[in-house]
Amino acid sequence: MEPLVDDDVDGAVKRELKTARSKIRYLRRQARAMRAEQERLRRLNKAKDDFISLASHQLRTPATGVKQYIGMVLEGFAGDVPESIRPFLSKAYESNDRQLSIVNDLLQVAQLDSGALRLNRQPTGLAGMLLSIVSEQSSRFSQRNQRLEYRPPADETVIDADAPRLRMVFDNLIDNASKYTPEDRTVTVALAIRGHQAVVTVKDEGVGIDKEQLGRIFDKFSRVANSRSELVGGTGLGLYWAKQIVDLHHGSISVESEPGEGSAFTVRLPVRKEDAI
Ligand code: ADP
Repeated sequence: MEPLVDDDVDGAVKRELKTARSKIRYLRRQARAMRAEQERLRRLNKAKDDFISLASHQLRTPATGVKQYIGMVLEGFAGDVPESIRPFLSKAYESNDRQLSIVNDLLQVAQLDSGALRLNRQPTGLAGMLLSIVSEQSSRFSQRNQRLEYRPPADETVIDADAPRLRMVFDNLIDNASKYTPEDRTVTVALAIRGHQAVVTVKDEGVGIDKEQLGRIFDKFSRVANSRSELVGGTGLGLYWAKQIVDLHHGSISVESEPGEGSAFTVRLPVRKEDAI
């Protein structure tokens, strides 16, 4: 092979340099385009959040008015309500109640996504919180011919929590367990301490979730079709909310499920240091 002379080396280096420069120019153009696209998506996302927030605010006022007036009629403020009309009014009241709870969910999520939600964390007894949720929901379980069992630990477990927000997480998990479980089955709520973690499990004997769907059930507006979802309705916001709130508490949420057998949701939360075993 002929040895390379200086001119050849020079030429080769110049060509490589030219190629490298044109690659850099290309990459810079790409980076600029990506930044512009990112900004466009950010604005679009903000516009969507603003819209949801505004629409929910606007919807809440008239919906609250409807609730108050139907409530007053049902309580007899406008005179005796004929028995033939009462069931229709009660249905209207329940539908309106559901509508308000959807609007409130949308508002909460819009607040969460805009970063405006600030937790107010206080020492909170987790066993007591779960007991009060279970007591509150137990009549709904009886109406649906289901059992709700609670297995608390021997001692109270204290965590640093924004109690009202965390309560909504467990309220939702327990309500889901009932919604996606047929009659005559049991839902079990348990709390245990493992080292520095409080571990809450909500276990049902319901329809379960397909393996392929498990990865997306914590996404916003994600509803997975199953044999009960048409019947029970929902927004697909409950588990999104649950994950975001648990994350803000430096905890984690996970799920194990077997289609046709049931699901178990597990929430892990850090115990206050002096209370860790
Ligand atoms: P929603 O119940 O309003 O649809 P969620 O965010 O609470 O929204 O739940 C998302 C989806 O996850 C539901 O549509 C349902 O298919 C599934 N899911 C949640 N909890 C359970 C459960 N305990 N058993 C079976 N499927 C569940």
